[in-house]
Amino acid sequence: MGKFLFWAAVIIGVLLVTRMLTHYAANQRNKPTQKKGGPQAINEPEEMVRCAHCQVFLPRSDALKQDDHLWCGPEHAKKGVRQPR
Ligand SMILES: [Zn+2]
Repeated sequence: MGKFLFWAAVIIGVLLVTRMLTHYAANQRNKPTQKKGGPQAINEPEEMVRCAHCQVFLPRSDALKQDDHLWCGPEHAKKGVRQPR
């Protein structure tokens, strides 16, 4: 009986340590990167950019990049930069 309890304790201990290690590893992976320009975490809000013509804000993935400027669509890319008054 004593041996059984000993092995039960060992197995539970090993399981707890494995759980803690996997949780630790998962937490390390999910930590948001502090560096700027690093790979963006999935849960981070997307960067907003401005259309060079109408000054409207839109997510970077929706913006059109052309001639070193960002545009909300191909029409504004054709119209070009409009200087804000
Ligand atoms: Zn626009």
